[in-house]
Amino acid sequence: MQDRLLSLPKDAKDKAIETKKFFNKLKKRAPKNLDNLVEEIHDDVFEKTDCLSCANCCKTTGPLFLKQDIARISKVIGLKPAQFEKKYLRIDEDNDWVLQKVPCSFLGADDACTIYDVRPKACQEFPHTNQKNIYKITDLTIKNTSICPAAFDVVERIKASIKL
Ligand code: SF4
Ligand code: SF4
Repeated sequence: MQDRLLSLPKDAKDKAIETKKFFNKLKKRAPKNLDNLVEEIHDDVFEKTDCLSCANCCKTTGPLFLKQDIARISKVIGLKPAQFEKKYLRIDEDNDWVLQKVPCSFLGADDACTIYDVRPKACQEFPHTNQKNIYKITDLTIKNTSICPAAFDVVERIKASIKL
C-alpha cells in the first residue's frame, strides 16, 4: 500500500485531463443506469480495499465538521461543543470548521478511527464515489483520486465501463 500511496499523486495527475474530459462528456450523455453502475463499482472496489492499511485520507486531509458533527462528537468525548472547537478545530477560508492539524487527532495508532461510530458526515461519505450524478463533483473527485487509491480505482473502472 505504501508504494501505491507514493505513486498515487503522479498517477492521478497523469490521468486528470483525461478524467475531466470523460466527466464533461458524461454530463451530456449519461446512461440511464449511471447511478447504479457507479454504486456497483464503488461497492466492489471498497470490498477489496483495506482502509486500515491506508488511512491516507485521515493522515493527509481533514473533513469539514458540521454543527451536528461537533454536537455529536463533543458529547461522546465529554466536551462542550465550544471546548471541542477550541481544542481541535479552526475556521478555514471558506468559513468552515476544519481540523487544526493532520493527521487527524482522532486517528488511532493502529490507523483506526477512534470516533468511528460518530465520525463526521464528510468522513462517512469520503471519497464520494457513490454519489448520484457523479459528474457534478468532477473537480472534487479528481482531487480525491490523488489522495485515495480506492477513488482512483473507482474512477478508472467507471471510465472503462462507459463508452462515450
Ligand atoms: S474523524 Fe476519524 S475518519 Fe474522520 S479523519 Fe479523523 S480519524 Fe479519519
Ligand atoms: S477511503 Fe481511501 S484514502 Fe481513506 S483509507 Fe480508504 S482507501 Fe485510503
